[in-house]
Amino acid sequence: MNNHSSLKRPESPSRNKIELLSADWRARSVQEPQPVRRPRAVIYARYSTSNQDEDSITRQIESAKRYIEKIGAELVMPADRFADRALSGAYIVTRDGLNDLLSSVARGVFDLVVVEDADRLSRDLGHLGELHRTLEHHGVELHASMRGKLGLAEIAMYGFLSAEQRAQLKIRTKAGSKQAAEQGRAPKGSIYGYSSASQGHGYLVVNVEQAAIVHLVFTMFDEGVPVRAIVRHLNREEIPSPQGKQWSAAGLRGSAKDGSGLLRNHRYKGVLFYNRTETRRHPDTGKRTLLMRPEEDWVVVEVPEWQIVDTALWDRAQDRLAKSGATVRVRASKKHDQLLPGRIHCSCGAAMTSVVKHSAQGRRLQCSAYVEKGTCSIGHSVGQAYVERNILRMVRDGIVNERTVEAFEAAYRDEARRLAADVEAERATLEAKAIKLDRDIDQTWDKTAMSGFSIERVSGWRAKWENELADLRERLKCLPRLDRLPKADASGAATLRGAMSELILRIPSPLQSADDQRLLASIRALVPRVELAFAKGGRGYTLRVDARLDGLLPAAERTPAVVPVARLLEAAFGPTQWGRMADPDRRDEVTKLAQARVHGLRDHEWQAIAHIFDAIDLRAVRARDVVDAALFHLRTSTPLSKLPSCYGHPKTVRCALQRFVGAGLWHDAVDELGRLHDAVVVAGDRTAFDRWKAGPDP
Ligand SMILES: [Zn+2]
Repeated sequence: MNNHSSLKRPESPSRNKIELLSADWRARSVQEPQPVRRPRAVIYARYSTSNQDEDSITRQIESAKRYIEKIGAELVMPADRFADRALSGAYIVTRDGLNDLLSSVARGVFDLVVVEDADRLSRDLGHLGELHRTLEHHGVELHASMRGKLGLAEIAMYGFLSAEQRAQLKIRTKAGSKQAAEQGRAPKGSIYGYSSASQGHGYLVVNVEQAAIVHLVFTMFDEGVPVRAIVRHLNREEIPSPQGKQWSAAGLRGSAKDGSGLLRNHRYKGVLFYNRTETRRHPDTGKRTLLMRPEEDWVVVEVPEWQIVDTALWDRAQDRLAKSGATVRVRASKKHDQLLPGRIHCSCGAAMTSVVKHSAQGRRLQCSAYVEKGTCSIGHSVGQAYVERNILRMVRDGIVNERTVEAFEAAYRDEARRLAADVEAERATLEAKAIKLDRDIDQTWDKTAMSGFSIERVSGWRAKWENELADLRERLKCLPRLDRLPKADASGAATLRGAMSELILRIPSPLQSADDQRLLASIRALVPRVELAFAKGGRGYTLRVDARLDGLLPAAERTPAVVPVARLLEAAFGPTQWGRMADPDRRDEVTKLAQARVHGLRDHEWQAIAHIFDAIDLRAVRARDVVDAALFHLRTSTPLSKLPSCYGHPKTVRCALQRFVGAGLWHDAVDELGRLHDAVVVAGDRTAFDRWKAGPDP
């Protein structure tokens, strides 16, 4: 295997040490002292459902900005720094902006958070209370641009109101869709193939252009064109998809379970189902699942004027869908959990998806843009388990090794020490200035020293210096706390290395246990992204692994980079080799066993049989090695063609062994060894190579 591994360290520009301190602190150390400090504000914004959009975020931010100006505060971070898009308010687990906000609270860089209203933070009362407690604990106030400062009582009330409103909203949509169904109107938003009619909301007419596309898709499918080829055709012709983007195979084929997919849509044959499915959300993860309602709840209406595809054609399409395995095949097997789901990318940028081409081959990785949309031309695939093992090996040897870990820890500690020295120097300067100012202020009360100056002048100085002193004290308070600097304890690395080696031998396998899940989390923290570039003709591939050294630290210590943490690991691999001996780790293990001659002859055993082989002149290889190799092959099931090189070249060894067997020497030797009391031979060794006697070499 062609395996050039290289470890590239991105250049780190020699940064001014001061830059490593928080931006806020830097700003304060260069700013002119200000007499009165304005409260520092940040904004949190969120929109949740599909009918709200980017405008909603802009509106929330504008209103928050006006509010901040009104109360005389100062916006200290970019207005959209903490914004969550298209996430529901009821669940906080997946909201990056909010999590970012919460982790910034502890740093004490702002005094108040402005939201449009309480329900932007969370619609769950419990969460709201928790969030408020967290903010309060760090002395941060919560303000709503619509209402002003929010205390716990207000939060409880508004939180309750929005939960109530939410429940009402749900009832309203359900009732609305039933009513619309009974009036022959479309219950949901726009539907591909139709446009809104002038009668008003929900009334539809056939859109001639889109209907032609629907008809084309059904006809092509009926003629036996594979779904993927249809998708490629549509994308090549640059026909916009129902979502206005690119077409995908999943979008046409959908799933039999929930009746989704263009080819399964009843509307196109003029039959409408209402109230057939509902979306439920998991209370913890917030993930949506589409569920089929019981049939008696369905509302079925025939609307012949909406028919685009004739009934026979539509029915034939359903038959073909049922025969072709019904659903998108990529989900065929779940036995092997992906090590890095969504993180391995094709060189076109799209994620690689896990596909099953043939059940005997196991899962393979293939570009999702090629499989689903036909927009990528790289159709090669590669065994997922091989790629995962290669990535693990690269990360284990390139990152999770003693030398790298020690160098990283040392760099981290050095930087922390330098930082500490800078902070101490700054503190000393500020304190000296403060002492001098204090003395100057004292002097202004000294009548003799101040004689000759007017009272107004003296009190003017005093006021100015007192302001300066107050500001100095504030700046002293804002210096970073040294006990908060990261400690860089990567002591878990050795254990992680062992666990990774063990995992390499186990892949592919389900990774369900709690230990496995923890291990996966550690590995994913180290590897945010991998690029897989196929060599010409798909023979072999190159892996570029973006690794992060701070993934070695406990999660709590992963502070914004103090030292450079990104590493690029790159290695090229030849075409996948099959069989157990293709795995480098297994090969290493076997080689070690062979070198230790665990299964080899002991000296007195060899002396007992050495004379048997005198008759044959082997030249390139020693007779004792050939016998040892044969025993090793029998004990470890290592194929003769893959024997470790310590026995000599596998072909030569095999040739010599064949000559031994042909001349009857192998039988003689095994018999002789059998007569020794503690000999290494077992039953079966004698006849193990008899196949070579029967006829020509297989
Ligand atoms: Zn691609």
